[in-house]
Amino acid sequence: MAEVSNGFMRGIVRVVILFLCVLNWCELAVGQTKDQAITSCESAADASTPEFRTNSPDANRVPPILQRNLGRVRATSFPELQARVVNSRTFNSSADYFRTRFSISRFLFFRRMHYFVEMNPRIEKGGPAAEGTCAILAHELVHIVRMSEGNRMHLLGLVRLASDSYTARFERSADLEAIRRGYGPGLVVFREWVYKNIPANAVKRKKRNYFSPEEIVAILQATKSKPELFAYWDKHVPLSLEQIESSAKNAR
Ligand SMILES: [Zn+2]
Repeated sequence: MAEVSNGFMRGIVRVVILFLCVLNWCELAVGQTKDQAITSCESAADASTPEFRTNSPDANRVPPILQRNLGRVRATSFPELQARVVNSRTFNSSADYFRTRFSISRFLFFRRMHYFVEMNPRIEKGGPAAEGTCAILAHELVHIVRMSEGNRMHLLGLVRLASDSYTARFERSADLEAIRRGYGPGLVVFREWVYKNIPANAVKRKKRNYFSPEEIVAILQATKSKPELFAYWDKHVPLSLEQIESSAKNAR
């Protein structure tokens, strides 16, 4: 009876997760040292290669430049993902350009997990500079590192993404790890670009959930002399410039 009941409950939990994912709530939307950020990224904004010009934008095609940049960032800064299956695919949105997902069917049927970095093809037209693109790809790969760690059932924790405050901590934590791996300056570039390329009413949400350029600069300055702040912020994710400055000031 207990087994039947447990099996039934597991089934219910999975149906709930699937439902949440359909509602777009399971965006996993994700360590190493800094100075490892790669410098060889290509920019969609630089779209000057023959390959780029001959391929017209296609809603269902991941831009080749982004595929290559994803491979570069992964190979350079995420050795722990080399044995993982990480693919890319597209999604459409007016306010988001990148996000992370995992295979729901593989989760449900206990198969080897596949992860996806999803990209909005709109970025192909006038996207951010190369270092901005690579930095946001690093942010997404941090999500995948965290998704792929430990028992897959920890993915159930995604349900908490329904909470605004949890989402902000979740996303800012991924930013912090990308910054720690050397992608801070690139994240500044990406955030400056994204604020200008999303609807005005979406900018406020972006500023709440992710570090702003000003906050990233403060983090870079503080951690230059106090790298231990990353460990502190890992447990106390700062949600404002004031919190960044305050913890930097109080750190010994
Ligand atoms: Zn994210």
